Amino acid sequence: MCRHLAYLGPPIRLADLLFTPPHSLERQSWAPQDMRGGGTINADGFGVGWLQDQTPLVYRRSVALWTDAALPQLAAATRSGAVLAAVRSATVGMPVVETAAAPFCEGRWLFSHNGKVTGWPDSVTALAAGLPVRDLLTLDAPTDSALLWALVRARLRAGAAPPDALGAVVAAVRAAAPGSRLNLLLTDGDTIAATTVGHSLSYLATGDGAVLVASEPLSPDPAWKAVPDLSLLVAAPSAVTVIALEGTTS
Ligand code: GLN
Repeated sequence: MCRHLAYLGPPIRLADLLFTPPHSLERQSWAPQDMRGGGTINADGFGVGWLQDQTPLVYRRSVALWTDAALPQLAAATRSGAVLAAVRSATVGMPVVETAAAPFCEGRWLFSHNGKVTGWPDSVTALAAGLPVRDLLTLDAPTDSALLWALVRARLRAGAAPPDALGAVVAAVRAAAPGSRLNLLLTDGDTIAATTVGHSLSYLATGDGAVLVASEPLSPDPAWKAVPDLSLLVAAPSAVTVIALEGTTS
């Protein structure tokens, strides 16, 4: 059920997130260790977004990460201090297209969703109806994740802080579609906000002013900390806070 990660700190090579670590995102695409809600591999697309000289760049493909011949060179040559990347295992019935792969992006915001909306699409039609028609006509893809991004983005555009936008969307979707799995991940290049509703998440605050948040630890380093289910995490290189969300997963 998808794996995602975000990094903030001194500029590093994308390869040092995607390929080099022992449990890199590439390895998590074919040998994930903690998929919980189902799925076996994450081969239905991938994406990486990063800030370079304050400009957001996104590279998404609809193929398995390990099959992209251009990516190793691109990742070795590109450095950034703000990265969000994901590998996708498409939910049954959802299209395998480039634009369904995270990260979803607007301005400096990069977003990813790991999970699924129960009862899609009927359960969330009322929530979708609250969005501007233009946003619905220009969804990245006809998937639950793209709708979640549109719901989060509407709140960000209205001025909500990233953790508040995630918390409000998770509460609304859990009320409309109980049992949904809603691990959301968002960065604006200054902080990372994330939720855990039904899937795994860990973080690592390194000694050198960097913070990493990932579905699964990238290395056996014991400093990785697991985030409990039903949490809202806010992470910056200077501090990480984890707040409990209300209720139960189902
Ligand atoms: N439901 C989303 C999709 O199909 C996310 C899938 C996942 O987390 N595996 O893109």
